[in-house]
Amino acid sequence: MRIGVIFTAVKIICIGRNYAEHARELNNDVPGEPVVFMKPESALIRDGKPFFLPDHLGDVHHELEIVLRIGRNGKHIAERFAATYIDRIGLGIDFTARTLQSDLKGRGLPWELAKGFDGSAILGDWQSPEAVQWPGILSLRLEVNGETRQEGDTGQLLFSFEQIISFVSRYFTLKMGDLIFTGTPAGVGPVHRGDRLQGFLNDRPMLQCKVC
Ligand code: ZN
Repeated sequence: MRIGVIFTAVKIICIGRNYAEHARELNNDVPGEPVVFMKPESALIRDGKPFFLPDHLGDVHHELEIVLRIGRNGKHIAERFAATYIDRIGLGIDFTARTLQSDLKGRGLPWELAKGFDGSAILGDWQSPEAVQWPGILSLRLEVNGETRQEGDTGQLLFSFEQIISFVSRYFTLKMGDLIFTGTPAGVGPVHRGDRLQGFLNDRPMLQCKVC
């Protein structure tokens, strides 16, 4: 008898244009429902490992985002129950090959090559929702080489965490361990080799990443 190996992979679900000011800085319309895209698991970098800037992708932008880790399986989740699916809250960077993304968007093509390349999803530390006082307004801030580049708070979200979970679970069954990147505030820009990125959630350092 052959014993099969069960491979499980997390989904990395990302929300685009979820802060109006960021949508405007890229000349995008403010969306009427969440803009959803995904990254493969091979995009993940954890444990403070460096981000190796690819040579062939043009400008790569930092997008600091609050990331939700899903704690139980569910589909068609009602908004009023959505909070109970959030197991951990942390920070991540949705690295985006902006030159390539603009080209793909211009040609009406999907964004995956610009969003899902190796190393494009950086994760920092996790906290329980209670430890970061959520539900409640969370602030996020990105420093590049000690200088603040991105700053925002969840009061500016177009779609709340609960609305996002409810919306995406109508299309994708959420499974334990899945990750949701909830969108980036204004201030995105290109990274360069040697940059040191540090992310703060409610002024607490939660993510570090060196660009190599
Ligand atoms: Zn993003």
